[in-house]
Amino acid sequence: MTARGIDQLDILIVTGDAYVDHAAFGPILIARFLEGRGYKVGVVAQPKWDDPSDIARMGAPRLFVGVSAGNLDSMLGKLTSQLKTRSEDQYTPGGERNQRPNRATLVYSNLCRAAFPGVPIVLGGIEASLRRIAHYDYWSDKVRRSMLLDAKADLLVFGMGEKPAWEIAQRLDAGKPLSALRDIRGTAHVLNSPKEWRPFADEPSRNVKDGKVLLLPSYEEVRGDRLAFAKMTGTFQKETNPGNARPLLQVHGDQAVYFNPPAHPLKEEEMDELYDLPFQRLPHPTYKQGVPAYKTVKDSIVTMRGCFGGCTFCSITEHEGRIIQSRSESSVLREIRQLSRMNSFSGTLTDIGGPTANMYKVRCKSEKIETACRRLSCLHPKVCSNLNTDHTPLLDLLGKVRKNKDVKHAYIASGIRYDLAEKSPEFIRVLAQHHTGGQVSVAPEHNNPDVLDKMKKPPIEAYERFVSSFCDASEKAGKEQHLVPYLITGHPGSTLSDAVDLALYLKRQGMRPRQVQDFIPTPMAIATAMYHTGYDPFTLEPVYSAKKLREKRMMKALVFYWDEQHWPLAREALLSLGKGHLIGRAADCLVPPDYGKTKSTAGKRSPQGPRSGPPRGPRSGTPRGRKPN
Ligand code: SF4
Repeated sequence: MTARGIDQLDILIVTGDAYVDHAAFGPILIARFLEGRGYKVGVVAQPKWDDPSDIARMGAPRLFVGVSAGNLDSMLGKLTSQLKTRSEDQYTPGGERNQRPNRATLVYSNLCRAAFPGVPIVLGGIEASLRRIAHYDYWSDKVRRSMLLDAKADLLVFGMGEKPAWEIAQRLDAGKPLSALRDIRGTAHVLNSPKEWRPFADEPSRNVKDGKVLLLPSYEEVRGDRLAFAKMTGTFQKETNPGNARPLLQVHGDQAVYFNPPAHPLKEEEMDELYDLPFQRLPHPTYKQGVPAYKTVKDSIVTMRGCFGGCTFCSITEHEGRIIQSRSESSVLREIRQLSRMNSFSGTLTDIGGPTANMYKVRCKSEKIETACRRLSCLHPKVCSNLNTDHTPLLDLLGKVRKNKDVKHAYIASGIRYDLAEKSPEFIRVLAQHHTGGQVSVAPEHNNPDVLDKMKKPPIEAYERFVSSFCDASEKAGKEQHLVPYLITGHPGSTLSDAVDLALYLKRQGMRPRQVQDFIPTPMAIATAMYHTGYDPFTLEPVYSAKKLREKRMMKALVFYWDEQHWPLAREALLSLGKGHLIGRAADCLVPPDYGKTKSTAGKRSPQGPRSGPPRGPRSGTPRGRKPN
């Protein structure tokens, strides 16, 4: 600050991640964006949280403090689906653990309140965004209040934060009080007494500037009543299109949280502006060890944000929005030229993509229809006839990337939405010929039609068609390439028996999956509401969810039918289902007998199953970092 002649910051950003000056790190992107708009912005990364002095090392800012847990929900980053501590934190130098507190947003916000009395506190980032209404927290098995109330902050920014953060900065800079910041899109604020919120609650159809206020079931209702929670989720999910979303209100005791409609998506020139900001593309020079997540993004290029897939286990749509926001071709090519001038660049672009690589510049045919639409997915139950599925902009972009003489390889490691890719055989051909480093990640997730329907994923036949097209294209390109299937076990709607069927399907197909995720109910996901309530939030039909950790482990073990480490638990699962006939050496068996322990029981019913300990397989120690498709 001294070197730059800064006496006082305008805005301070506190983040639970390490400082990596790269657009893939959300709080840093916001900091650079605000700096680009003329504000003096400082960042405190991973402050100590035992007293407020560390967070206050750059002094109190003039306008506001922005608080974020970082790129991941802090509980998701710390614990696995089996509630075990992950072996490393990908967003910390050296992958070290315990560099951020649990529910970091709350802890940092309270520290800021103590360190900077009177300075407005604004929450942002994925943790605050996805915990903005009453939500189910898997790690404590509780329905928790809106994080805004527990953090005692002034405002909460949800979704992608550039526009709301800039609007907040401008209004505060103009000397407006916090009470004049209550109508900013993409923000929520607290109404502290019934006198303030009662007019909305008594008249849910009351007109406000952007439409009508919709009353969600109260925190008290959804905490005690699972059906009310499911209904809340169904209502809330239909209010996420910025084109038609209404303001929402949720009462918590004497207080209430008021949610403005989501911010409008960024236009192409606004997206370009973000990626033209002067990122160093490096971790802070004081770090002695590498930041694992940086290695993943170091040589990758983001082309778009948002996702219209609407997969129920994923919250990208809720956070980034379902309207795709793409960069211009020239902006992407400019960034690649900058990257290729860095000494560390080897000539390989490890990824060109975003949440879904082949959604670049794909949108609804009509802005008017898009604005009015309340569908949760443009792809499920089938590709919407209004979707312009043209892959030409992506193909043109990739063609120009290939012409850059400094780029030897340009891979697509982001997920491919295969029901969309099917619409462009040329894309599949180009992908197989030029943009695959031998492996392509695709996510059938399961094979059971009912489970896939609960996930809002296409039927397995769509995956099979993609496999066939990709293999043909690879053969024509003279390349031996593989598809890496991602699968989820334990998703709501799936049973142990379904896991057996999935394993048998995989075996018949000759697939030995390595990427299998035991379902984690993350805050605000639709599948989380199914898991917690036992209801589908849209049909209100009952949905089974495996809740016992051992049952979830068994499901995963079955899908790893080919891996010896998982056999004891897979055998136990088969015996518990009376499917001992699937234990054996025959081609239609899943796992071989355990001659040492289970030979005598193989093929027989055994209510308890053999005594076997937990799987000795590799611990699911890291966030998958996977794409949501
Ligand atoms: S009309 Fe179809 S393509 Fe357009 S936004 Fe709605 S679901 Fe998507």
